[in-house]
Amino acid sequence: MSDLNILSEQTVDMPDAPYQARHFIDGEFAQSADGQKSDRVSPSHGVVVSQAALGSNVETEAAIRSARAAFDDGRWSRLPAKDRAAILNRIADLIEANVERLAVIETLESGKPISQARGECGGAADLWRYAASLARTVHGDSHNALGDDMMGVVLKEPIGVVSIITPWNFPFWILSQKLPFALAAGCTCVVKPSEVTPSTTAMLGEFLQEAGLPAGVCNIVLGYGNPVGSLMTTHEDVDMVTFTGSTAVGKLITKSAGETLKKVALELGGKNPQVIFPDADLEQAADAVTFGIYFNVGQCCNSSSRVIVHEDVADAFVARVVALSRKVVFGNPMNSDTQVGAIVTTDHQAKIDGYVRQAVAAGAEVCLGGHIMSVPGLGTQFYEPTVVRGVTPDMAIVREEVFGPVLTVLTFKTLDEAIALANDSTYGLSAGVWSENIHTCLEFCRRVQAGTVWTNTWMDGFPELTFGGMKQSGQGREIGKYGFEEFLEVKSLVMRIGRKRAPWVRTA
Ligand code: NDP
Repeated sequence: MSDLNILSEQTVDMPDAPYQARHFIDGEFAQSADGQKSDRVSPSHGVVVSQAALGSNVETEAAIRSARAAFDDGRWSRLPAKDRAAILNRIADLIEANVERLAVIETLESGKPISQARGECGGAADLWRYAASLARTVHGDSHNALGDDMMGVVLKEPIGVVSIITPWNFPFWILSQKLPFALAAGCTCVVKPSEVTPSTTAMLGEFLQEAGLPAGVCNIVLGYGNPVGSLMTTHEDVDMVTFTGSTAVGKLITKSAGETLKKVALELGGKNPQVIFPDADLEQAADAVTFGIYFNVGQCCNSSSRVIVHEDVADAFVARVVALSRKVVFGNPMNSDTQVGAIVTTDHQAKIDGYVRQAVAAGAEVCLGGHIMSVPGLGTQFYEPTVVRGVTPDMAIVREEVFGPVLTVLTFKTLDEAIALANDSTYGLSAGVWSENIHTCLEFCRRVQAGTVWTNTWMDGFPELTFGGMKQSGQGREIGKYGFEEFLEVKSLVMRIGRKRAPWVRTA
């Protein structure tokens, strides 16, 4: 489509050679015992940008064994929280010192624009610092009114060995939503990134080593969901699994981890609505809707893929979103001005296109885009900014996670109808409301089924504010105080403090 804003020039240099990503087990970097590796071909540039060790049960067993030993001997869990916090802060320093290196490989593996990758990798350091600050806040309760000779104390302790399984859409950011919080709590970990974006997780191993994290406290195994991820969710030496990814795999993990009754925390998909009332600042709302659908090419659990707009303003609003969509800079991710990059894999691109084709066949109207896009000099693993109207709530494009730059538009007449449409989803991750009326906003916030609700903004986030989903968007929470608490177990101490205890056996 000729009137889109497509940037093909490059401003950032390509690395000299593919990054060699290795496992990090028991404090040492290693290739796989059987020498297996996988190549990652950049979705935007079509060249091999990394080669990663492909793990098997051998490496996964070794990593779990190492994490178990490191937990059980207390080298981390019994370290004073002050010392744990100091190491986490040193890791944050090293992340900040290496942002450009991280961002370049993250960009080339994922297809996201370099400016966004810089923001995510740099911003992740703040998650590490916030987690470090929480390490020193662990405390429970005391009960001093149980009787003269009794005292009760409720302790919080690290839950144990945690398996961390992450996806490809925000590899370093999502890792940093989990790992530093688990470490701050005193847990030891085994981490598996997606096999299509393994490198920044492997690079983190360098920082963990340099910062002085004791060997075995965090182990990284590279490889596929099966066998690596699968063993991480079934092994009896693992106490908890925290996973971000698809709802389908989340359900599988819940079942397999259930065999040994592990705690499971899941951050899954979303089909997130932004609801636009006619009294809203429509210019701001249109900009936020445009951002919400194209950020990370829509490959984002928080993507606002459903706009629900009042029918009185729908035509003008959609026209404004279409006009703004034409101005968004799509194209070469290795240009600092690019806002939207490539699609992660060709399979995923075909899935996105399939949703659009299916909706068109069912009578939907494509107001903009709707096709695979090519960027001069880079190829065709891109997708046009796409706005689809004339959809009905039962269509797959409205109900399922398209995970692409594809916005659907529904309309409403009343507040009740808007809330019913917003809640008409198996997902419940996030939602947004746009209105100048505080009563409208508050009523929407109370009644919408979502773990995060934004009013007159979209996707602002802070380490302090916990994140997670209702319904089939997940269970448990991440980041913030509540996310930290997921990694803590609770233990009651019942203590006799008097010298005498009334005997149970009558000896006289
Ligand atoms: P998956 O859920 O398949 O993968 C996420 C992670 O889980 C990867 O590290 C993957 O490994 C691993 N994994 C896969 N199978 C298992 C298993 N049986 N046991 C343990 N771990 C496993 O997501 P996809 O990458 O396939 O994406 C598919 C869809 O999921 C997307 O189209 C999107 O709709 C949704 N998604 C949602 C995300 C979110 O942020 N909520 C993130 C990513 C995807 P590997 O792939 O390396 O084999």
